[in-house]
Amino acid sequence: MSETLSHYTINDGWFREVSDELWPGQAMTLRVNQILHVEKSKYQDVLVFESSNYGNVLVLDGVIQATERDEFAYQEMITHLAMFNHPNPKKVLVIGGGDGGVLREVVKHESIEEAVLCDIDECVIRVSKKYLPNMAIGFEHPKVKVYVEDGFKFLAEYKNYFDVIITDSSDPEGPAESLFQKPYFELLKDALTEKGVITTQAENIWLHIPLIRDLKKSCSEVFAVADYAYTTIPTYPSGQIGFMVCSKDPERKLNQPLREFDEKKEGELFRYYNKDIHRAAFILPTWAKNYLDLSRKVPEK
Ligand code: SAM
Repeated sequence: MSETLSHYTINDGWFREVSDELWPGQAMTLRVNQILHVEKSKYQDVLVFESSNYGNVLVLDGVIQATERDEFAYQEMITHLAMFNHPNPKKVLVIGGGDGGVLREVVKHESIEEAVLCDIDECVIRVSKKYLPNMAIGFEHPKVKVYVEDGFKFLAEYKNYFDVIITDSSDPEGPAESLFQKPYFELLKDALTEKGVITTQAENIWLHIPLIRDLKKSCSEVFAVADYAYTTIPTYPSGQIGFMVCSKDPERKLNQPLREFDEKKEGELFRYYNKDIHRAAFILPTWAKNYLDLSRKVPEK
């Protein structure tokens, strides 16, 4: 008889994602069929549960990282907004991404010669391989190499090497804190080749727009072009999450894909990304567009 597992976020059969720092006064809740795994790793609290309507769910430090039902909306957009902004991506690095979903997307591009992943926590990789097989499939590709290390330290070892770097990190609270700061963006730039492109997880306009403005300011000071784009995803706070998309190529129009798959191939390979949504992802509602317009002063509260 397996011991009945429990976790502080799960009560009366519901998971609650409460964070007074990251999303005060609101919480996503998911009905729980069964708790599958609970572990305190060296870096974070790791929980996996089977939900009633979203498949298996990975939670780190009480925050939803991925659900089997809607993860593709995030994995495809953070990956292909970068990959289709590069003319011929051969060497790609994923920082974080321990569930394997971004790697699964990266290797859909035939140009790939090397797909490297660096995640700080072996527990996330191990647990994702067991409970999130449709994401962890990314680890099985022959061109994939995996390192378990702090992404900030790992990146410092590389200069002018990667064509695309995708930072698929958890939120700035905890081990990912350094991945949201300017020194990290400097490391990203140095590790990129001439026309290199990056994307980073860049939070939610409804909840974190001051942080996003700071991210855009830092990225604009480091890269030739930088902009914010987003996806919709039911189980992330307020149903939306964005990305900083940056390139070292001053001519790059980030909202215009450099390469395209034809409609048939897009339909076979992707469930969210397509060339039209690539363009649309950079179009923001007026209040957010104005707030993130660095030529404007920060609007009064
Ligand atoms: N898609 C999710 C999101 O948007 O919040 C992120 C998913 S992924 C599981 C987040 C990963 O970032 C975790 O596996 C975590 O271990 C990793 N991570 C956090 N800080 C890191 C660091 N400093 N270096 C490398 N990986 C880190």
